[in-house]
Amino acid sequence: MPGNQADIGVIGMAVMGKNLALNIESHGYTVSVFNRTSAKTKSFVENHEDKNLVPSFKLTDFVNSLKAPRKIIIMIKAGKPVDNILNQLASLLDKGDVIIDGGNANFHDTIRRSANLTKDGIYFLGMGVSGGEQGALHGPSLMPGGQEKAYEMVKPILTKIAAKAHDGTPCVTYVGPNGAGHYVKMIHNGIEYGDEELIDETYNLLRNIVGFNVDQLSKIFAKWNQGELDSYLIKITADILSRKDDLSSDQSVPIVDMILDEGENKGTGRWSSEDAMAIGAPQSLITESVFARFISMMKNQRMHAAQVLPGPEKKDQVKPDKDVVEEACQALYFGKIMSYAQGFVQLEMASKTYKWHLKYGKLAQIWRAGCIIRAKFLQKITDAFAKKPNLQNLLMDSYFAGIAKKYQKSARKIVALATLDGIPVPCLSAAVSYYDSFRAKVLPANLLQAQRDYFGAHTYHRIDRPGTFHYTWYKEE
Ligand code: NAP
Repeated sequence: MPGNQADIGVIGMAVMGKNLALNIESHGYTVSVFNRTSAKTKSFVENHEDKNLVPSFKLTDFVNSLKAPRKIIIMIKAGKPVDNILNQLASLLDKGDVIIDGGNANFHDTIRRSANLTKDGIYFLGMGVSGGEQGALHGPSLMPGGQEKAYEMVKPILTKIAAKAHDGTPCVTYVGPNGAGHYVKMIHNGIEYGDEELIDETYNLLRNIVGFNVDQLSKIFAKWNQGELDSYLIKITADILSRKDDLSSDQSVPIVDMILDEGENKGTGRWSSEDAMAIGAPQSLITESVFARFISMMKNQRMHAAQVLPGPEKKDQVKPDKDVVEEACQALYFGKIMSYAQGFVQLEMASKTYKWHLKYGKLAQIWRAGCIIRAKFLQKITDAFAKKPNLQNLLMDSYFAGIAKKYQKSARKIVALATLDGIPVPCLSAAVSYYDSFRAKVLPANLLQAQRDYFGAHTYHRIDRPGTFHYTWYKEE
């Protein structure tokens, strides 16, 4: 095998690495591939004999197989494994080579790794990759952050392999320095959690309050996918609800009814909430969606609580009116808008905190195709930021303000209906509360400040004059 022949290398031959390697190869590049367990590299290359793939079974051979300056994408389990591989690569690479971590790294790790590799003159991009297996193969949404010079070196490849939006724009853009790409991917995933929870709550209330069966719900979601809610997650929900269990003898049982209701997570939603707390961003939708997964994991406790804790009495429950399906559709869209409003506010606050200069309109643009949250309505976000690049909150854009005005009544009715009937709607209710908090001229934080001043002499500001004040709440004896 002649050395230095491959255009780019991929480390990690699991679902994402294999499909990304095939995607890159399909655009005319020769791709070197390496995996910790050699058997996986071997079987991958044997299964794709006709492709320009160069297998290596030692990391040194892999590095030597690449054209200079070397370009390496790492697609392995996030965390310590990435540090291990980077340590090994650092001693094998030359100044000016580029490493791209395409996994779901925590952005704090990416900032640290970027600083370490920069000392050795090695470029480092932390790149969010969204779209799962199919996206990696046919076109993902890519969110690269790091040195802009390094991005320019890999831009031709990334532009070719990225998903293309309906207007032909590739779903990749330079996001910003050091951890910016992984931060944006983290928020993408957090928003994905919110989208999923909003859909799941709507499914739950329509099923348990109105009494639709799973087939009927599949048709409802399929219909919603023809309108404003048109999105990948609504589409797959309709499909999931139409599927029957393949393991039961009774083939009419919906698969969803055979799946244990314990929602797992891999951490990106939690990280989004943690950083929202760290930078002071009001992020109730993502946070509630993470908590919804946590409480779902307490299955045994819930089973016990269901026996002993009563819900509303039948006589107190409310009957949905005839427009409930339309109202639920509007409530879901309203919730989605609040969630994205919060997501973009968090991005703006993070951009200032970490000095990233994020371009919000470009981010909405690269989420329009390829990724899990792809949706028709992302075009509206792109349009909003095109009109006003420094838009502070999506709710200040005329389209989103108009929808909020039109659909708030339905959102309130649906949240009230669910609450009165004992169905949990943590994200839908958080959406309504966020809307009402954001538009409130006066919040009870005046009383809060008085309480803080009372017990801790924390002082307060006044509405009628500048300065810091302390009230004499009690006289020392
Ligand atoms: P994964 O299951 O997260 O990781 C498996 C890969 O990591 C294998 O190649 C494995 O090698 C390697 N690995 C594990 N521990 C290692 C270590 N200590 N040293 C070296 N290699 C090690 O794979 P994935 O699902 O393809 O995801 C790859 C990355 O993309 C992850 O960060 C993931 O979070 C992110 N991501 C995944 C998806 C998705 O839909 N799956 C979507 C977007 C992003 P062996 O074969 O030797 O075990």
